[in-house]
Amino acid sequence: MKKLIIANWKMNPITREQAERLFELEDKKFDNLEIVICMPFVFLREGAGAQDCHWERQGAHTGEISPWMLRDIGVEYVIIGHSERKENDKIVNKKIKACFQAKLKPILCIENQEQLKARLKNIKNIKNLSIAYESTWAIGTGNACSPEKAKQMQILIRRILTQLYSRKTAEKIRILYGGSVTEKNAAEYSLDGLLIGDASLDANKFIKICYAVNQKS
Ligand code: PEP
Repeated sequence: MKKLIIANWKMNPITREQAERLFELEDKKFDNLEIVICMPFVFLREGAGAQDCHWERQGAHTGEISPWMLRDIGVEYVIIGHSERKENDKIVNKKIKACFQAKLKPILCIENQEQLKARLKNIKNIKNLSIAYESTWAIGTGNACSPEKAKQMQILIRRILTQLYSRKTAEKIRILYGGSVTEKNAAEYSLDGLLIGDASLDANKFIKICYAVNQKS
């Protein structure tokens, strides 16, 4: 299974010209990696990832974007439940269900095992799900979670998925770490991939992270 590297641009950059320069990252190919750039809605195009979506197919939801709209323009992955969005578990659960219905691949962000269970409640089939373990205190702070703790969380998450689904299913789910990953510490994390915020806005840093993870894989 290739490692999944997710770039989360958040509400950056401001201009299309700046975004164009970062788009090049999508063309980089690494044998052992799948790279997805989750960008603001206004820049989205085929092959890119989104940072959120609504749970309804269509209707009177001013300012919202439907998972089916994302699918229609060729988006495959979408981050769901990022801690910066401060959404409750019920909403996140509805969004995950909608993503599956729209045949998108959600990247579910969780901070602890309670969130994992609540956010997957009554979801029978989790094929195409990825999970990103991210601590709020580690995001954008420079205080990355230790590689040992991140690994322990990966093991715990996989154990819970085995209990909720099956070992076979759990083994196929990629479990990522996110939170202050840089080109300096990226190679220390031996999970199934990484979610990168700040460092994904600097092409050189992001490529260095990809090289480091690819080499270790
Ligand atoms: C994130 O936003 O999910 C994230 C990991 O950000 P950063 O890498 O900046 O900590």
